[in-house]
Amino acid sequence: MLSAMLWLADGSVAAGPTDKPSVLVPVIVVGQFSDGQRAQIREAVDEWNRALNGHIRFEIQPDTGAPKVWAVTATKSPMNNKKEALAQTMALPAGGGLVFVYLDRFGTRNLAGVMLHEFGHVLGLQHDGGHDLMSATYNPYDQKCVDYAAAAQVATLYSLPIEELRWCGEAPTSH
Ligand SMILES: [Zn+2]
Repeated sequence: MLSAMLWLADGSVAAGPTDKPSVLVPVIVVGQFSDGQRAQIREAVDEWNRALNGHIRFEIQPDTGAPKVWAVTATKSPMNNKKEALAQTMALPAGGGLVFVYLDRFGTRNLAGVMLHEFGHVLGLQHDGGHDLMSATYNPYDQKCVDYAAAAQVATLYSLPIEELRWCGEAPTSH
């Protein structure tokens, strides 16, 4: 079956007549991130957009005070927090939410990998028991891209055909 998704010359995506409109996830980046860290956040956004294949799309927007956005914010780690948490994602009841990034805990860890995991939570994904992107434990080797387990959660949550998502690495079954 041919995809009804049309790629426009400017890189934006338009749904064909038979498609549901793609879901836009607006993201703003606020706080004391360096240019390099902002680039790593963009890297995570790009990887998710590649994997989501136009069905859902993250978009980094300027902070205009618009409601229902996801704000990625650099914060000092809270004392009462689990010590190993590098970041935390919190949905707000009205829509959108906050992604707190505890930069003081990062050391040499890669922000792009951590953001890939947190953007999974933004989409509503839960931790799974595997050694993969949505594992509860940070692991730089298993969290480089959107893998099958993460894509499968997205497919279930958003009622999307898994074969229309572009996960990385091995799938447990052929497709
Ligand atoms: Zn998590």
